[in-house]
Amino acid sequence: MRILITGAAGFLGSHLCDRLIADGHEVVGMDNFITGSPDNLAHLAGNSHFEFIRHDVSNFIFVPGRVEAVMHFASPASPNPASPFGYVNLPIQTMKAGALGTHNTLGVARAHGARFLLASTSEIYGDPLVHPQTEDYWGHVDPIGVRSVYDEAKRFAEALTMAYHRFHGIDTRIVRIFNTYGPRMRLDDGRVVPNLLQQALRGEPLTVYGDGMQTRSFCFVSDLVDGIVRLLLSDEHEPVNIGNPTETSILEFAETINRLLSSPAGVVFQPENRLGSDPQRRRPDISRARQSLGWQPRVDLEKGLLETIAYFRQKLGVN
Ligand code: NAD
Ligand code: UDP
Repeated sequence: MRILITGAAGFLGSHLCDRLIADGHEVVGMDNFITGSPDNLAHLAGNSHFEFIRHDVSNFIFVPGRVEAVMHFASPASPNPASPFGYVNLPIQTMKAGALGTHNTLGVARAHGARFLLASTSEIYGDPLVHPQTEDYWGHVDPIGVRSVYDEAKRFAEALTMAYHRFHGIDTRIVRIFNTYGPRMRLDDGRVVPNLLQQALRGEPLTVYGDGMQTRSFCFVSDLVDGIVRLLLSDEHEPVNIGNPTETSILEFAETINRLLSSPAGVVFQPENRLGSDPQRRRPDISRARQSLGWQPRVDLEKGLLETIAYFRQKLGVN
């Protein structure tokens, strides 16, 4: 296939480009670098199966030539208000990427008769009252909370995707991505993995927000990409959770990092900096992905963290 991937210069988008090119597809990457970096695509320069278009997906999109699949990944993705790359500090761009960007990319799919895959998120469940989260849970989202610019944009994006599927017959898929980590995460976007790894590599104490009892379930990027490719090739039109169901508290997660890096500095508790909006528990129910895609994660946390640490060492120039 010839596949348009928006958000191609980002963490997930760049790994998707690599995987799909390795599988023999042609990729047209699109990005405006608002949170991504050309460095993530530098190794693809000169690859005859890769083209790049610098463009903001909030504006009308024109892709010359054939397109058989569109994968919409463009959006700021970090919730941390302490980072200039957090969506709280890019609120209008985030809503436009989710709303106008989804409309424009669905338009490309319709014009080319291409299949469409939306990168949605576990955030559409908000601060969930159901645990673990199944795809039929409708969520618990504050429509005007600080996270709403992201959560509601993604909820709108899902609704628009289903509208194009039901009304225009577009061949759509929706992946609800849970916390994912790995090489090419932006060092300064404030998400927990880059924050804590950098602190540990510098011998500083790890900042744990709140009491650290809030939980997340961390999926390594190669597992996530494998689930997404399976979904793209499937006939599943309902949303599918892709994530690792192994749940850990943030405090345990910080202690694992300190142990792996033999870092003696410990942790330091900081007031919750999410303006009262930090989801307390998050774990995907992946029954649908297992049944309809034959997918489950394979990389355990320690192995994934060691690969990620190697990347951060290289980026930071530390041993
Ligand atoms: P990222 O910030 O590394 O990548 C996003 C990319 O989109 C960046 O390269 C950015 O420059 C680009 N972009 C943003 N707005 C754009 C616009 N208007 N026009 C063109 N390009 C634009 O983030 P990521 O972690 O790779 O996330 C990718 C997608 O996956 C996002 O849609 C995000 O919501 C979703 N997601 C990620 C996670 C995760 O754990 N990483 C979890 C849930 C959902
Ligand atoms: N967190 C933390 N210390 C940090 C950064 C994040 O304790 O330096 C916590 C944050 O409060 C949240 C979890 O780690 O409970 C995951 O945060 P992240 O920004 O990675 O993404 P989220 O899962 O909230 O979307």
